[in-house]
Amino acid sequence: MPSPQEILKQYWGHNSFRPLQEDIIAAVMEGKDVLALLPTGGGKSICFQIPALAKEGLCLVISPLIALMKDQVENLKKRNIMALSIHSGMTYFEVKQTLQNAAFGPYKFLYVSPERLESKLFKEYLPAFNLNLVAVDEAHCISQWGYDFRPPYLRVASIRSEHPTVPVLALTASATPIVQTDICEKLLFKNADIFRQSFEKPNLSFSVFKAESKINKLLEILQKVPGTAIVYCRNRKRTKELASLLKLNNISADFYHAGLLQEQRSQKQEDWIQNKIRVIVCTNAFGMGIDKPDVRVVVHLDIPDNLENYYQEAGRGGRDGKKAFAVLLYSQIELEELKKLPDINYPAVKEIKNVYQALANHLQIAVGNGEGIYYDFNLNEFVKNFKLDIFLVINAIKALEQEGYLTFNEQVFLSTKIGFACNKDNLETFQTSYPHLEELIKYLLRSYQGIFDNEVSVNEKLLIRLTKLTAEELTSQLKELQAFGIINYQPQKENPQIYFLQNRAPAEYLSFNLEAYLKRKQQYQLRVDTMEKYITLTVNCRSQYIGNYFGDVKMKKCEVCDNCLKQKNIELSTEEFNLISNRILTYMNGNTVEIPHLLSYLNSFKKEKVWKVLDFLQSEGKIIVNEKGILAP
Ligand code: ADP
Repeated sequence: MPSPQEILKQYWGHNSFRPLQEDIIAAVMEGKDVLALLPTGGGKSICFQIPALAKEGLCLVISPLIALMKDQVENLKKRNIMALSIHSGMTYFEVKQTLQNAAFGPYKFLYVSPERLESKLFKEYLPAFNLNLVAVDEAHCISQWGYDFRPPYLRVASIRSEHPTVPVLALTASATPIVQTDICEKLLFKNADIFRQSFEKPNLSFSVFKAESKINKLLEILQKVPGTAIVYCRNRKRTKELASLLKLNNISADFYHAGLLQEQRSQKQEDWIQNKIRVIVCTNAFGMGIDKPDVRVVVHLDIPDNLENYYQEAGRGGRDGKKAFAVLLYSQIELEELKKLPDINYPAVKEIKNVYQALANHLQIAVGNGEGIYYDFNLNEFVKNFKLDIFLVINAIKALEQEGYLTFNEQVFLSTKIGFACNKDNLETFQTSYPHLEELIKYLLRSYQGIFDNEVSVNEKLLIRLTKLTAEELTSQLKELQAFGIINYQPQKENPQIYFLQNRAPAEYLSFNLEAYLKRKQQYQLRVDTMEKYITLTVNCRSQYIGNYFGDVKMKKCEVCDNCLKQKNIELSTEEFNLISNRILTYMNGNTVEIPHLLSYLNSFKKEKVWKVLDFLQSEGKIIVNEKGILAP
């Protein structure tokens, strides 16, 4: 068997591993369960891909995002590695064929979304897999206490009872210590190894500005910092307005959000990656799986509601190791609004039930029906028809998702589905009577194995290329075939979908785990508080604060964030230093004191100076500063 190093060279052409990759791979090769925390773009994929290639058998990869899954499978195929995926929108026949290949073919990787794990078909094939590893991507999604809980992830553990000796590798970019513990518990880790990359990014300067006019500040930043930029804002409409405004100021810019068609999104993303556009103004839908090294500045025009997302988005700056900036702009009003978010995002259960009822009425689902069906869902129309508050609806849907009733997906692409509905003799007779449809029938039968007996996903673009029809002609011919009863035809869908995981229950019988819901709310509250604190930090190093939040307690000060720079600029004479330091130690007299008390006691000195001395005393180990106040060690 080749060594991990040789595999890295052979398939990826890289000469050396990045920090931690080698340790993670070694632990997995030894058969241990491993939790790995690596930043986005840190190279998580090869941590499971290499051990899987080094061993005999199949690696099962659980991944929540179809787009990323498809990307990875394509990437592996390009390297001549046999990989498969199962995702929503595939027909029963296709899923079965894929599972069969995974069980009995020479495949090395099977990517599945967590929702699939509980399906009957999957369970049927699971024992037949010759698994060498289970890789759980975005593993924080398994924790209720995390910022992106997805209930289907809880099903991952059930794989373990079927394959008790197969190691599990959980990967995530950001998980707080309680989420890390929860991941290990939920995945039934025995003696897990945890690897965590340092959160230090010495070239990335974090700063926060309270700005009266965010637009002016943004222009100022983009004028000062040349090079590629990402500007995040929450509102879709605003991304467009802002991009236009930047263009008016002679800054090359475009906008991006999840409401655009797939093709437009890819185009905009590609233009930005290739530096045809300098600034992309976007919602948080932008950036998944993008690995552009030379981003010089990431600006946030709205406050994200958690540090996990903020850090991931800001961390897209300066991947090449050169100087970069992460700037957050806010106003006092927004800071107040941030505090109201927990109550808004976690509505009362009664209201959630009302929304459920309204949804079922809107989608015309009778009690006891709906399971396993996709419904077109126009949020705005729904809100208007039922005179509901849009935020309430969004948050109620989220709560229903977390209780496992349904999923709502705005960025869907369900390909066209076609299956033949007639027998061979009828088809032949039909073809002679309708020769203009013969070509299309021929290409359908030739290009799609099994289409005569099963429904399959069809790529319309491919058919257009083969038949040389226009898109309109193709649709019209398919409809014609459908009308004659020759095929069953479900056109492709690219509008938002609601998918019912369970049959509709009468709203009053909708069961709801209130205790867990309230605990999730409490955890959310903590995240909001953390964000608020990050914004209002005046003295502490921002990188250090972020690192500590994720459990990296060994972080040094970054020396480049706004607070570190402020500190550096405070002039303090030796006499003044000694005076303040003596006063502090005398006042403490070996006891714990509260910070506001100490500051008011020393109010004849500038606050910044007092903090500078406190920082120094802390680094010397003479005092400890924590949330309780200032302690003697
Ligand atoms: P993540 O999943 O952590 O966001 P990826 O696994 O997609 O990151 O890797 C990001 C990029 O880094 C990819 O282009 C990958 O090929 C590259 N990469 C990973 N490991 C190495 C390495 N050891 N040397 C050079 N490039 C690497």
